[in-house]
Amino acid sequence: MKRSTRLIHLGRPPRTGHGPRTVNHPVVRASTVLFDSTAQMADARRRRDTERLFTYGVRGTPTAFALEDVIADLEGGFGAKLYPSGQAAVAGAMLAFLKPGDHVLVTDSVYQPVRRLFARHLEARGIQVDYYRPDGSDILDLIRPETRLIHAESPGSFTMEMQDIRALADIAHDAGALLSVDNTWASGWAFQPLAHGADLSILAATKYVCGHSDVMMGTVTTTEAHYQTLHDSWLTLGTVVSADDCALALRGVRTLPIRFDAHGRHAMAVANHLAARPEIAAVLYPPREGDAGHALFTRDFTAAAGLMTVAFQADIPRARVEAMVDALELFGIGASWGGFESLALICDLSNRRADADIRPGIHLRLHIGLEDPDDLIADLDAAMLALGG
Ligand SMILES: *Cc1c(COP(=O)(O)O)cnc(C)c1O
Repeated sequence: MKRSTRLIHLGRPPRTGHGPRTVNHPVVRASTVLFDSTAQMADARRRRDTERLFTYGVRGTPTAFALEDVIADLEGGFGAKLYPSGQAAVAGAMLAFLKPGDHVLVTDSVYQPVRRLFARHLEARGIQVDYYRPDGSDILDLIRPETRLIHAESPGSFTMEMQDIRALADIAHDAGALLSVDNTWASGWAFQPLAHGADLSILAATKYVCGHSDVMMGTVTTTEAHYQTLHDSWLTLGTVVSADDCALALRGVRTLPIRFDAHGRHAMAVANHLAARPEIAAVLYPPREGDAGHALFTRDFTAAAGLMTVAFQADIPRARVEAMVDALELFGIGASWGGFESLALICDLSNRRADADIRPGIHLRLHIGLEDPDDLIADLDAAMLALGG
């Protein structure tokens, strides 16, 4: 079966032969789970560490198990664990595989709160971090005997650099380290890091998987070799998600392929239009020909998401860009992305890079939603009158 067909059919109630059933998996809310006898409970407790059994809410409900199965298939992994946000998923992956004395290499293009996770939490617990250039050109010099994990994100947050995941996996494995990839932009649909050698793939399912800007969720998917370590840490930390949120994520993921492809088509139309405007110095969108990451994109990715960054000419002051964003009618002003709607967010790159050599000019991140792209382009053109002052 094709992947989009499996996304429709996985994680749904099976035919039982006992009459009608719902299309969607039931929402099973639970803390306590009741057993018929002490013997049945004892048997479940014997097996629950090696089998996925419904024995207590913190170990997951049948609704969560259904979502785990769908995510594992979407990401092409052996098993997936669920977390209450994308940030919690990154933290959960780090806590599962790192211990005091370990060293981690993180891409300089990483989602900014991951820097905070290291600076405020992991470094205080004896885990060292260095940031490497997204193109990997300095990574061999930064590797140490204690390097336990390399963390990648492709394309990177705001600056949108593509990374060579296959090459990074080889470097990590040669050093005896793991490779984790934040795969939120591709959301498992456009790219599967595990198939390119990564050991962990992380999604902010808050974004395209849920897809409607009303759920927080994160996932970590891994190979058979690392699944038990991930599972044990996840269970020990008690990072449970509600059955209601799992049901919303299951609803969202059914339509991921068609939403994703439409976001990508609309974004390409907007990117091409903006690239021709004199006020725009650069459009950072790897699916577009001419982007610095386009060759890696066409080699590895099978579809384009709707998230891009545009850089204004260096002589356009921030106040003018703010006036332009305020003039937009169809784009919301807000964090996150991956819902059905368009968003605009002015980026502050100054606290995001160890590398001082970041691009000049004010940057604007655009999430291109499912509105008709002609309307979005007209809205952008009208708002850009504010750039002139
Ligand atoms: C949004 C995002 C996260 C964090 O997800 P939340 O659910 O908002 O915590 C992590 N990584 C990337 C690349 C993101 O865009």
